[in-house]
Amino acid sequence: MDRLAVIGDPIDRSLSPVMHNSTLREMGLGDEFVYEKIRVERDELEAFVQGLRDGDYHGANVTIPHKVEVMRYMDRLTDAVEKIGAVNTIYKENGMLVGDNTDHIGFIRSLKDEGVDVEDRHVTVIGAGGAARAIIYALLEGGAESILIANRTRENAVRIMERFDHLETQISVGGLDEVHGDILVNTTPLGMAGELENRSPIPVDRITPNVVAVDIVYDPPKTRFLKAAQKRGCKTVSGIGMLIYQGAVALEKWTGKKVPVDTMKEAVIRKMKDNIALIGFMGTGKSTVGVSLADSLGRDFIEVDELIEEKADKTIEKIFREDGEEHFRTLESEIIQDVCQKEDTVISCGGGVVLDRRNSNSLKKNAYVVLLTASTEEILRRLSEDSSRPLLRCENREERIKELLDDRSELYDDCAHITIDTSDRGIDSIVDEIIRRKEGWS
Ligand code: NAP
Repeated sequence: MDRLAVIGDPIDRSLSPVMHNSTLREMGLGDEFVYEKIRVERDELEAFVQGLRDGDYHGANVTIPHKVEVMRYMDRLTDAVEKIGAVNTIYKENGMLVGDNTDHIGFIRSLKDEGVDVEDRHVTVIGAGGAARAIIYALLEGGAESILIANRTRENAVRIMERFDHLETQISVGGLDEVHGDILVNTTPLGMAGELENRSPIPVDRITPNVVAVDIVYDPPKTRFLKAAQKRGCKTVSGIGMLIYQGAVALEKWTGKKVPVDTMKEAVIRKMKDNIALIGFMGTGKSTVGVSLADSLGRDFIEVDELIEEKADKTIEKIFREDGEEHFRTLESEIIQDVCQKEDTVISCGGGVVLDRRNSNSLKKNAYVVLLTASTEEILRRLSEDSSRPLLRCENREERIKELLDDRSELYDDCAHITIDTSDRGIDSIVDEIIRRKEGWS
């Protein structure tokens, strides 16, 4: 198995492992590559690169604080790195280590996805750090008409301006209250989750309705800056696209294969929402496990069947009897769409939720989906006292359960990220396994 890694310090919150590992699985390369996050302190960098050279790793991403320092250990730097002055991706070419930077491609592709072209546009780059350099390089490559670098510390902006001195694009520097232009790009960390979340990088009255507002911060996807811009009717672009495309270009370099970008995007969004959905046949323990799981993780718990009853203002039994199963399934789909907007929630779904592919697709995109199973005998035993199940009103319950399981088992498997057999197991051990496997899944 070839190892890939992102190195940095701190590295705990990196979304790269979940993004790359999900995509590698989707590409059928889950057995060939694994992507890890590794905390590498400054004095450990040289040793890590030596390990990479010796074959411990197949390739790597590099993040704060090593993007500049790592350049000196490379055998070759790409033209983009020579100009940007920072490496975010290392790959091997004929045994040599190549330092590359994919941030600038990620940035331009994410704009293109949103129909934004930088050619002949006036752009303000807010911030003058490492990411700003990659973005200015991208803007020059893309043929921007002018670039204003607006930064807290003027000298840092001047240094970048001099580095990128350019014939065709006019570059100037200014303060944070001087921004203007067709496109405003925030490259500072202001707005990112944590202490800086409520801060905008510029006074919000500088945002006029005709501009495109771009934020390269991706957590949260809608920063204070983007919300203010949206309020003024501006087009907005979040940092998620850049994160995904810079990752996709790196993965293409390491694997030599085309990367399914949508899978990467889904993996990032799923990880950021951090929902867990429990699916499976009735009697497999979804509600009991769900309550206990939500409790252990300090999350909200949602029972989809309860929400359906609230919406219809009658019991499920009554909905089946008076309105029919089809009506029930319609209500169920509407509720699933709603709950998929949630974050940090444990969602217990009804047994037939997978009958509608749209439900499965939404759940898979927005939650880590755990399929709970149990043997037919165990299900029969657990439901022996329960007469409220409309689908089990029949002469031979065992036959009926087998029939329904036959119809649904493939649909369950298709929807699930992992499967856990709950027969003969205690709740605590099931909850522990879900938490453990969810961690490892990334
Ligand atoms: P960096 O090199 O540390 O640069 C930070 C810049 O932000 C500097 O210009 C700094 O101004 C400015 N700044 C920091 N704190 C500020 C404050 N309180 N008020 C005003 N300005 C402030 O960081 P970086 O590597 O460029 O990364 C910046 C952000 O981009 C991070 O949040 C990172 O996660 C994000 N990023 C996203 C992607 C993506 O794929 N979406 C890729 C790369 C980076 P001074 O010059 O005055 O210090």
